[in-house]
Amino acid sequence: MILDSINQELLVLKEKKNYRSLPTLIHDGREVILNGQRMLNLSSNDYLGLANDVSLREEFLKTMTPETFLPTSSSSRLLTGNFSDYQALEQQLATMFGAESALIFNSGYHANTGILPAVSNAQTLILADKLVHASLIDGIRLSSAKCIRYRHNDASQLQRLVSENHNLYAQIIIVTESIFSMDGDKADLCALVRLKKSYSNVLLYVDEAHAFGVRGEKGLGCAEEQDCINDIDFLVGTFGKAIASAGAYIVCRQVIREYLINKMRTFIFTTALPPVNIQWTAWVLQHLSALQYKRTHLLRISEKLKTALTGKGYHCPSVSHIVPMIIGASEDAILQAEELQRKGFYALPVRPPTVPEGTSRIRFSLTADITEHEIDQLIALING
Ligand SMILES: *Cc1c(COP(=O)(O)O)cnc(C)c1O
Repeated sequence: MILDSINQELLVLKEKKNYRSLPTLIHDGREVILNGQRMLNLSSNDYLGLANDVSLREEFLKTMTPETFLPTSSSSRLLTGNFSDYQALEQQLATMFGAESALIFNSGYHANTGILPAVSNAQTLILADKLVHASLIDGIRLSSAKCIRYRHNDASQLQRLVSENHNLYAQIIIVTESIFSMDGDKADLCALVRLKKSYSNVLLYVDEAHAFGVRGEKGLGCAEEQDCINDIDFLVGTFGKAIASAGAYIVCRQVIREYLINKMRTFIFTTALPPVNIQWTAWVLQHLSALQYKRTHLLRISEKLKTALTGKGYHCPSVSHIVPMIIGASEDAILQAEELQRKGFYALPVRPPTVPEGTSRIRFSLTADITEHEIDQLIALING
């Protein structure tokens, strides 16, 4: 019986402390309330604190009327769902990035599961960093490409794989994140660009989900910071994190945009995001370049936390606002997270399969709303 085996599997998850359930959270600005306990949220992806900015929402609502407030697109963009707001946002993105074109998707998950299957075939080799996000893994699985995962950020292994394989395939696509979700470290995009430029059939795919809004002087991500925006063939990012909205984008050449519109199943076979959501994204993006002070503050408190963790003997690979405290056993990570929660900090454990076995951790996901004083209080609570 299938139900028996499902129950059995759930029991195993519980025994291994890898069981997941939905927390009944109440949100109150920077804080969450869980089971009556009020805590500072250290686990949100609202990196710039914009999701909590009531005045930003007030200003936006002033631009809305019942006629322009459209909560649904009622259709795929290829049918009747192509409101002018989408093209306006895509033009805005292309201009911000100084790129040929942009295309919007319903989420980062849609983007990553749709782009790779669309642009690859059986003559494609995908070389993906060992730690790329689950959505990229799923995109690779849905594609007919062959795939090899290279060791995390290992440029020399990647170089060897490219030189061994570039003659055997019509094209190679290198797939990486810029800032990695779980370690908070970053890829050397310049090195990847140099590598791909030395071959005529190598393309580069970069997921900036955690960097868009946060890195670069204009907040465009690590590609801006490392000055290589136009050298990346598939530059992808999301609006659900620092941008305090929902959706995702690719910045790319015009011909790739056209091809995706024709081939990408997660673009074609889904109802487009509500126009009001697109308008909100456009509104937030207009403010993005002026938020450098938030980016600076976020990096400062992140470095402070990382330095303290390292000082207390934790290995911390982070160079960003995602600061993992790697503990090891899932059970210990859970206990330490619960202890921090009792003291008023909503920190969450991350366990396998999200991270490799034996590297369970507390993942601090900092936002620009958090004060330096609060970081000091947190540091004082962490065991050395
Ligand atoms: C969050 C995330 C996604 C998914 O984006 P959504 O818009 O939440 O679907 C994709 N890639 C990475 C690296 C992410 O962290």
